[in-house]
Formats: sequence, C-alpha cells, structure tokens
Amino acid sequence: MPERARRLIPGGVNSGQRNVPGLGDLVIARARGSRFWDTTGREYTDYHAAFGPPLLGHADPDVDAAVTETARELDLCGVGVTEGEVRLAETLAELMPSFERVLLTSTGSEATFHALRVARAATGRRLVVKFQGCYHGWHDSVSLNVISAPDRVGRHDPISTGILPEVLESTLVLRFNDVAQVRETFATHGADIAAVIVEPVPHNVGCLLPDQEFLAALREECTSHGSVLVFDEVITGVRHDLGGWQRIAGIRPDLTTMGKAIANGYPIGAIGGRADLMDLFSSRPGAPVFFAGTYNGHPAVVAAALATLDKLRAEPVHEHVFRLGERVRTELSALYAGLGVPAVVAGYGSVFVTYFLAKAPRSYDDLLANDTGMFVGYRRRLLDHGIFELPLNLKRSHLSYAHTDDDVDRLLAATEIAVRAQLA
Ligand code: PLP
Repeated sequence: MPERARRLIPGGVNSGQRNVPGLGDLVIARARGSRFWDTTGREYTDYHAAFGPPLLGHADPDVDAAVTETARELDLCGVGVTEGEVRLAETLAELMPSFERVLLTSTGSEATFHALRVARAATGRRLVVKFQGCYHGWHDSVSLNVISAPDRVGRHDPISTGILPEVLESTLVLRFNDVAQVRETFATHGADIAAVIVEPVPHNVGCLLPDQEFLAALREECTSHGSVLVFDEVITGVRHDLGGWQRIAGIRPDLTTMGKAIANGYPIGAIGGRADLMDLFSSRPGAPVFFAGTYNGHPAVVAAALATLDKLRAEPVHEHVFRLGERVRTELSALYAGLGVPAVVAGYGSVFVTYFLAKAPRSYDDLLANDTGMFVGYRRRLLDHGIFELPLNLKRSHLSYAHTDDDVDRLLAATEIAVRAQLA
C-alpha cells in the first residue's frame, strides 16, 4: 500500500506533516474513541488527534448518528440555505461573544483567508501583522514564520516557495507577547495596517500563553488605528471554552476564525464578527468582497457541528478534559523533576506539551533552546508502547472526552520508560 500510495500521491500522504520521519509506513485502518489502529492491527492511544478536531474522541456515536441521519435526507443542493445552517449560525452567535454575523467555510485556511481579504477591503490598506510561531493556514499572506530556524527569526521566512515577494513584504512579523514592539510597529506603520491576525494562544508551537496586557495592547492599537483585529481561534475556540479564548480573556476581536473541534473531525471552518465587516461579503447580494465555496455549509458537516456543540453544552466534556489535562501536566512535571530532567510541561485545558527547556517560554525565541532530540526522541519511543504523540518538534498533544484515567496512567508509565531510555 505505501508503495502504491507513493506512486500517485506525492510523498504518499495528502497533507504536509502527515509523512513524519521515524513512523515508517503508517497506513491507518480505523479510529474509535481515544484510539486508532493501523492496517497491521497495531493499536495506538491517540494524543495527536489529527492536529485537534476530535475533542469528543474519534467517531463519536452522537455525531456520527446525526451525520448518518442527515445524509439519508439531504445532501448538497448549492442553492438557498438549510435549517441546519441557520441553527448553526444561531448557535455560534450565541456562544461566541463577538459574533454579530457568521459565515461557514470548509477549512480554517479559508476562514483566515477571507478575514484578511475583508480587512483589506474594509480599510483599503495593504499590511497584515502576524506573529512568529503562529500558523493560520496555507495561503500566501500568512505562509511565513511559523517554525523558523534561529537564523530566520526576525526576517521573512516563507514556509513555501511560489509566493510573490510583494505578498510576503505585505506581512509584518512580530514577536508574540512583545507589547513594546506592537506599539512601535503601529507608531510607524499604523496607517497602513489592515489587520492583525493572532492565535491568542500560539498552539502551533505547542502552547505559549498570552500575557493579558499583550492581547489588550493589540485591541487598543487596532482600535486607535482603525485596523481589524482577527483572533484565529481555529484551535482555541470550542476546545478551551465554548466562547473561545475571547471569552476567557474578555477581549472582543473584530473578526474570529474557527474550525477543527467545531465539528469533531468533519471539515469545517467559520468566520464571525462585526456586522459592518461581515456584511461586506458577497453572500449578501451586491456586497463587494467575494465569498464562495461549493461545500460551505454542507448538510452532513453542519449536522456534525450541531451534534458536537449540543454535546459540548449538555455533557461535562470540558470538565473531563480539563481535569485530565491538569492531571497530565502535574504528574508529568513531577516525573521530570524526579528524573532531574529540565522540562516545562506547558498547556491549557485539554492541551499539553513538554518542552525540554529550563524556564517557561513566552515567545518563539525562547523555544529555540528546546532540546529537539529529546522532544522527538521520547515520542518515537512512545510508539513502541502504543502511545501516539506526534514525533515532530513543538507539536502539542490533546486529550478528548473519550480519554480515561487509565489512558493517562498508561501515558505516564510509558513516558517514564521512554524518557529513561532516551537519557541512557
Ligand atoms: N489556524 C490555525 C490556528 C490552525 O492551527 C490551522 C490548522 O492547523 C489553520 C488555521 C488552518 O486550518 P485548516 O488546516 O483547516 O485549513
């Protein structure tokens, strides 16, 4: 199979970072709850969680039932709207503090693309500000400075070739949590800044927690210069709080992008926010900012999202994953302290990541000191114990509603063996 896969599919996989060194030829056969299985029958407890969507666990029975039931009645018609789309818009607007309007996409990248396009259209400005270490999808304006080598930090570091230099130059890259740099940048370029886009918690480099003053400064500077503040809550929204990080921080962005856990694994994205900005999208006849997508609001995906959000509200999902997350972080910290390994177990709620650093990181620069060999090495060893934490530098791990204390017991025991072996 992998040979067959490689013959026609470049690299044998359909997305960057699915082909991970050290995994061999992994062909996935089945996924349920906290587990997946490969075609050789090997079982893994899954902490990778497909980069984040299945907050309820894989193949949640309530989500799957809603999808199956909907598929029996309705597929895509591509005209008008469905009852499900209206209910989902109402639900998201109820949950997210800043949503005066909401539109659906099929991916998070489409949502961030449209957020920046509408910001440029509304302001008539060119520049976008992003932060080193944040990832916002694959499109040109944001395809730079995610995980950069030390010599690439502080200048443009595209993650792809094929991007026009004038597009790269239209994105300013700043340091996360650096209030002074934000203020200086606005003092110099404020009149040209269309938007600031930020992962309120940069999870694409594990977990950097934001200083409250930093997010507040972004809000202040955007307001005083007429720039659009975009919170990219593709990971934080739903997973950390049903009202997103904006509810936790008490800061109201102008636009918010969402995706991943909203539909527990079915392909979805959403953009929501200020009515005056959102009403510029051409879903409103005659409005100037083109917005379209054949699969936007697909009935089966919308059914998955509604079932997911209903379950997140009805059952103690956050309580469960937060309790397990706290347990993992506390017990892993104790484990590393006992072994005398300098480590910072970071995270929030259901997310955890162990950096091999002496002190808690505040921005990407601090992560350059992470012991990559240790980070990737113990995770590769965990595979032998049937534990899957993605063996790639700085990737976070996730807990779901389907994970149990037994799973955590096994994770802790296997981690101790893997780290000891790595140290030997
Ligand atoms: N924004 C953030 C914060 C993400 O983590 C991702 C994906 O990992 C995206 C946007 C892009 O979403 P998608 O992969 O659904 O296009």
